[in-house]
Amino acid sequence: MQVLVINSGSSSIKYQLLDPDSAQVMASGMVSRIGESVDPGEITVEHHSDGRTFEHTGPIADHAAGLRVVFDLFASSGHDLTGAALSAVGHRVVHGGEVFYEPTLITDAVVESIDKLSTLAPLHNPANVTGIRSARALLPDIPQVAVFDTAFFHGLPDAAKTYAIDAGIAAAHGVRRYGFHGTSHEYVSGRVSELIGGDPATHNQIVLHLGNGASASAIRGGRAVDTSMGLTPLEGLVMGTRSGDLDPGILVHLARTAGLDIDGIDELLNRRSGIKGLSGVNDFRALFTLIESGDPAARLAYDVYVHRLRRYLGAYLVELGRVDAITFTAGVGENNARVRADALAGLRRFGIEVDPVANNSKERVARYISPPGAEVSVLVVPTDEELAIARAAVALVG
Ligand code: ADP
Repeated sequence: MQVLVINSGSSSIKYQLLDPDSAQVMASGMVSRIGESVDPGEITVEHHSDGRTFEHTGPIADHAAGLRVVFDLFASSGHDLTGAALSAVGHRVVHGGEVFYEPTLITDAVVESIDKLSTLAPLHNPANVTGIRSARALLPDIPQVAVFDTAFFHGLPDAAKTYAIDAGIAAAHGVRRYGFHGTSHEYVSGRVSELIGGDPATHNQIVLHLGNGASASAIRGGRAVDTSMGLTPLEGLVMGTRSGDLDPGILVHLARTAGLDIDGIDELLNRRSGIKGLSGVNDFRALFTLIESGDPAARLAYDVYVHRLRRYLGAYLVELGRVDAITFTAGVGENNARVRADALAGLRRFGIEVDPVANNSKERVARYISPPGAEVSVLVVPTDEELAIARAAVALVG
């Protein structure tokens, strides 16, 4: 069985061709710089079975043109994706709003609805819709499924999802906490339940998805009871370029005193804040190079990042009352031992400990980093959103 998983951004498409049963990835790649006139676009295909790679450089007019070249590159290497080889195409869709909270078979009406939700996710949903339309045009006979980043958080308790603003305005404009990275939080917490054993319905977990975007979730018995991202993926933890939590009064203050309009504030908080806003770099490897060179701004950025992370951990420890597992995932969570150690330092009295040797291991598999017998299991679990999307897609289409 083969499923093509597509994650379509505004100027890029990431894709994977994989077998949802065995989790084997047959091929993966990326279409970059779609629609750019200055730098030419780039398309890559890597076949994982034999390591062969194919590249194409040149202008890419739009998403459909990019995907067409991907299919041509596949065809020229002996894989016809347009034939009957595919069981389904799975699309990552960022915002499902109040409308979509389960994997959904894509029809014209579904595409229209996802497009309408663009007001809630103006950076993401239009790009997702473009990817869906392109893939449907190229593969009209293959069932296509949308998997929503917000879905796992659909059932958040009212107290966790409600913002304390005028209830009428909130209801009229869909203002509530939706949460994001749901596919990752669900996949990772499911893996943790398998690893720690026992009845998943009794497992209380905290998952820390720390990538460029970052979010924390509190999960009781497989259901999310709180999460750090809100109406948009801006709330919560400090991220690569996003501020995370702020006093909303700052927006009012900046509008009045710094002459920033709505678009200026949007750009400031989404692209010029977080680790980048404080240190000048958004990549954690670059941040650590700066810290090691003695750069005080980089050090402060790191301290603010860890401080925010610990604040959420504290909140979720109290919300859950008892925690069985705390898990780190995504680029920073999987690779940065220092962040993991600092996030959980000094919490022995809560049963939380990190074993330095296990924590510093570079193994790229799901593993414990707490010492044997620790009250709270601390784990590193590589996330795999593509696999989760592929499995959701075939579960739906059969
Ligand atoms: P996203 O999917 O949100 O774009 P990722 O999950 O890929 O982000 O995470 C990107 C972050 O992970 C970057 O800050 C990067 O520095 C960090 N990262 C990725 N790989 C490593 C590594 N091997 N060592 C340290 N940090 C890493």
